[in-house]
Amino acid sequence: MRAEGYALAMTKATIVVFDGLRPDLVRPDLTPNLMALARAGCRFPNSRCVFPSETRVNAASLAAGRPPQSHGLVANTFHLAGAFADRAVRTSEMADLVVAEQALGGTLLQGPMLGDRLAAAGRRYATLSTGSSGGSWLLNHRAERHGHLRWSAHGAQWSSPGSRWEEIAARFGPPPAAAKPQSARMRHMTDIYLDYVLPTDDPDIAVLWLAEPDYSFHYAGLASREAREGIAEADRCLGRIVDALGQRPDAADRVVVAVSDHGHVLVDREIDLVAAFSEAGFSADKRAQGEALVGLAPGSPTLATLRRSDPGLLRDLAAWLGEQPWCGLIFTPGTPDAIEGVVPGTFARGLVGVEHARVPDLVFTLADDDRDGAAGLDGTRWNDGPIGQGAGMHGGLHAREMNNLLILAGAGVRAGAVSDLPAGILDVQPTLLHLLGMPSGGCKGRVLSEAFHDGATPVAARRSLSLNLGRRRQTLNLSSVGTARYIDRGTSALG
Ligand SMILES: [Zn+2]
Repeated sequence: MRAEGYALAMTKATIVVFDGLRPDLVRPDLTPNLMALARAGCRFPNSRCVFPSETRVNAASLAAGRPPQSHGLVANTFHLAGAFADRAVRTSEMADLVVAEQALGGTLLQGPMLGDRLAAAGRRYATLSTGSSGGSWLLNHRAERHGHLRWSAHGAQWSSPGSRWEEIAARFGPPPAAAKPQSARMRHMTDIYLDYVLPTDDPDIAVLWLAEPDYSFHYAGLASREAREGIAEADRCLGRIVDALGQRPDAADRVVVAVSDHGHVLVDREIDLVAAFSEAGFSADKRAQGEALVGLAPGSPTLATLRRSDPGLLRDLAAWLGEQPWCGLIFTPGTPDAIEGVVPGTFARGLVGVEHARVPDLVFTLADDDRDGAAGLDGTRWNDGPIGQGAGMHGGLHAREMNNLLILAGAGVRAGAVSDLPAGILDVQPTLLHLLGMPSGGCKGRVLSEAFHDGATPVAARRSLSLNLGRRRQTLNLSSVGTARYIDRGTSALG
């Protein structure tokens, strides 16, 4: 049943994901097509991704319409000893995710996903990705079961059905090799969508995942020529998609969503966490199971498993972390309705969406600040791992990591509108389901009603929470609209 007028308008939606695009890079010189889409539709400058501000976490959250503590893909790197005892799950690799899925009896992703909802309603879903094989799988992990199309630039074995990947490759050629920037791959994927998927499947909801600018930010730098070219090419792909959809007979009934999965800041300081922990007397390794006192899944954030159940040790570790200049915010177990976690002075994991059995007792981000990172792009941070100084990174709670691109345009959407209300990547799914006249029960986001001609403008609430852990003061800025919750930013400083 369609409850509100604007729900009558839409027939089909295309979601175009710009991996890692900061909204402040939507500029006339770089992204004329995103600028045009915003003029034709509604822009959400206060949109947020979910924490951790990582790619696979947000891909899963887009597909779930729910935060990590609800769907279970809690970080880009996390330990699952039943699947891999000697290392973390590499969520970028579909092969790892399939092993984890089998180890968990088919519950790696928990609760209904977008593909499940559309299949149950007899509707078609298709995903095309130039990102990692793991990221592609998380968007559409039951494509095989539902008969949906999942196309990955990585090959037939990561796509479904593989026979259609081969059919596509025979017609369009194999996907171009990886390059900085990934322009050729993104053009290739756009060709496939426009000249094959749209005329044949014309799915009710399609997701197209553009690997730029994330790829070039990580491997060439935030202010690099490669990143600028990658952004410009991704924008040209969007322009082609919007033009082609505009020529369809049902153009007036279609919606286009442009969204990014997180922002980026500059890495300007590096830390080796295993060494730092060990030097402080907390022996550590990166294994899921091991002899050391602490098992680290170093990422952004870092998940630290205490291998001895000892509340005193947890307090000691949190107190030591609180004194380290490279440490950001610290979280311990605690429900979404709590503020403080089990260790006084630390925030509850549930406040930031990661209160889940796969998240260990201690979670921390690395320190950041608002300094100029590169070419006028504010935001710098510490990092542990292969992404070193001069590169872009994300995963933490910096405002520029959490602020993502979100533009909605098409059927029933007010042209040239700007909503200053809190919004986020979790709102995409309930909004599109509403437009399709489908129930969105279980989704944790909201219908972005203010974007539509006959939609209501809801009321927002904002709060700032602060805690002291020794000399460290930690602050979380949170927003909400009804029951939809958003994390604006987290800051932390040593007094
Ligand atoms: Zn990403």
